[in-house]
Amino acid sequence: MRIGIPKALVYYYYFPLWKTLFEEIGAEVVVSDDTSKSMIDEGIKVTVQEICVPIKVFNGHVMDLINKGVDYIFIPRLVSIKKYETFCPKFLGLPDMAKNIFKEQSDKILSPIVSCNADKITNYSSYKEVAEKLDIPKWKMKSALRTAGRKWSEFRKLSMKGYSINDILSGKLQSKPSDVNPSKEMINIGLMGYVYNVYDNFISMDIVEKFRSMGVNIITFDMLPEKHLLQELKHLKKHLFWTFSNKILGAGFYFLNNQNIDGIIHITAFGCGPDSYIGKMMELESDKKHKPFLTIRVDEHTGESHLVTRIEAFTDMLKRRKIASEGRMSV
Ligand code: SF4
Repeated sequence: MRIGIPKALVYYYYFPLWKTLFEEIGAEVVVSDDTSKSMIDEGIKVTVQEICVPIKVFNGHVMDLINKGVDYIFIPRLVSIKKYETFCPKFLGLPDMAKNIFKEQSDKILSPIVSCNADKITNYSSYKEVAEKLDIPKWKMKSALRTAGRKWSEFRKLSMKGYSINDILSGKLQSKPSDVNPSKEMINIGLMGYVYNVYDNFISMDIVEKFRSMGVNIITFDMLPEKHLLQELKHLKKHLFWTFSNKILGAGFYFLNNQNIDGIIHITAFGCGPDSYIGKMMELESDKKHKPFLTIRVDEHTGESHLVTRIEAFTDMLKRRKIASEGRMSV
């Protein structure tokens, strides 16, 4: 039995969990190829024009898995991982959209409703439907979920040591991790953005590695402990409705309040509703705190030279600022 997992959206957060789960129940896991121009073009052809880029990319990945001839494609309906919060509505409707676009494949789509109160989504009720459809005994599914949960915790621990998600997923742990306790001696940039915008190297044009090659210490929300993110949101009268948006916003405030973070970049996809709140809030707050803030909006047409020019200019500005304020630097 071959189960396909699209290399898109929260693949960059949950792949170690889902890969382990399916392998533990005896399936072969097939992942779609890296995002490419042709894959995005295929996704655009079948997706409504107005939707955000990551969803168009996602559909390109589903098509790739269909072409690979997998037996099933795993597209869970991600509802909630925190009380009183949900995923962005696009995630809630993802299986419906996929079944409607790829009508002839709809029987192949595994779409359990994932809803629980923690990031570690290993509650049996969220996978009961999959167990029943694939004829997996309850005890076996539960045991697979326990193993998958352990694997995912190891993955999260590595993130919090400063390894980028792509370092971990590609097994490149010999590379130097980010310094999650940034020091004054470095140029430190807080990078805000959903994992699928930051770590899909076609969408972000490998922005994390580009900064690292310039000697910049780059920190993303997934490298910060959850308690820090929550702490930073405490002053808000109300949280946003969407869990991952809250994580990004919590990271944004953490970057704002950390004296050693020299600047903040928000990488956002064209057509993203939740990011229109986050972007505006951060723009206003960073103005108040005099912290440099840059928005990079990506879409299917974004060119690499444009991105490189902007991040180089931003980094140069931070360096000059640091020299002016401290009179010393070693980057
Ligand atoms: S959070 Fe934004 S980018 Fe992500 S799926 Fe929702 S609308 Fe799209």
